[in-house]
Amino acid sequence: MRAWVTGGEGHAALRAVELPVPTPGPGELLVRVSACGVCRTDLHVADGDLPLDGRSVVPGHEVVGRVVAVGDEVAPARVGERVGIAWLRSTCGTCRWCRRGAENLCRGSRYTGWDADGGYAEYAVAPAAYVYRAPEGLEDLQLAPLLCAGIIGYRALARAALPPGGRLGIYGFGASAHLTAQVAMARGAEVHVLTRDAAARELALELGAASAGGAADAPPVLLDSAIVFAPAGELVPPALEALEQQGTLALAGIHMSDIPRLDYRRHLFREKTLTSVTSNTRADGEDFLRLAERLGVRATVSPYPLDRARDALVDLAADRVHGAAVLRC
Ligand SMILES: [Zn+2]
Ligand SMILES: [Zn+2]
Repeated sequence: MRAWVTGGEGHAALRAVELPVPTPGPGELLVRVSACGVCRTDLHVADGDLPLDGRSVVPGHEVVGRVVAVGDEVAPARVGERVGIAWLRSTCGTCRWCRRGAENLCRGSRYTGWDADGGYAEYAVAPAAYVYRAPEGLEDLQLAPLLCAGIIGYRALARAALPPGGRLGIYGFGASAHLTAQVAMARGAEVHVLTRDAAARELALELGAASAGGAADAPPVLLDSAIVFAPAGELVPPALEALEQQGTLALAGIHMSDIPRLDYRRHLFREKTLTSVTSNTRADGEDFLRLAERLGVRATVSPYPLDRARDALVDLAADRVHGAAVLRC
């Protein structure tokens, strides 16, 4: 099969290769991939921000396709099912985090497109218990970005503790942010977007944001909650400063540049909360996919053929992607 693997020298060194079609092991499904979203985390994997320790891997964890074979311990009836493979690949199932419903924090968890090969390929395998059934109402290219960008954004929205009808600030407006904004607005939030990208500001206003300003601008009102999607630590102080008292700021990225020094009185006093977002649980994924179908959440998609996966990563790194880049596999 055609596939792409990390080259060890950054995302521009991603290599196109021929690999054998993988065989599903016990508990696994083999999926013929039809679409795979391109996530910023793929850049972090290819660039070594998330260490590979000398391994190479097929990136991609927003994988949509059909089951074409199953391993032992999986019902053969699943062949033909349309599914989504996402970032959370497996957890230990027995630690205190798994048992208390916080499997996103399991220290034994594994991730698609980092610990195991992902979807920049014609075929992929994944544990059946961690694969989502694809909602009927979402076509392949639409569904792919929901599988990480959408699910993580949904968890970030929960972590940001937005009160009903509250004011939400969104810093950075790429794939995850533009999906999260739609969910927040459908629930009655007033959304203010802050991003350096003029085209993204335009998209935010088209989707119904109340305002769209520059990356570190002060929003026109104080915010009840905010989410920083951009991997830019320098946005943390202005985002904290823009919070109303008792407001919450959630940092949605898996990687972020250094956060500048904070001033207690300006940035944290008056009971502000600063938190991060770490992966997601399967329940987050199932809830979000159901909600996205019901609310009609629409991803703005920039499609690329599988042969151009490296270009998609280069474009994403240069902030040249409008909405979400998705590979047609
Ligand atoms: Zn665990
Ligand atoms: Zn992702």
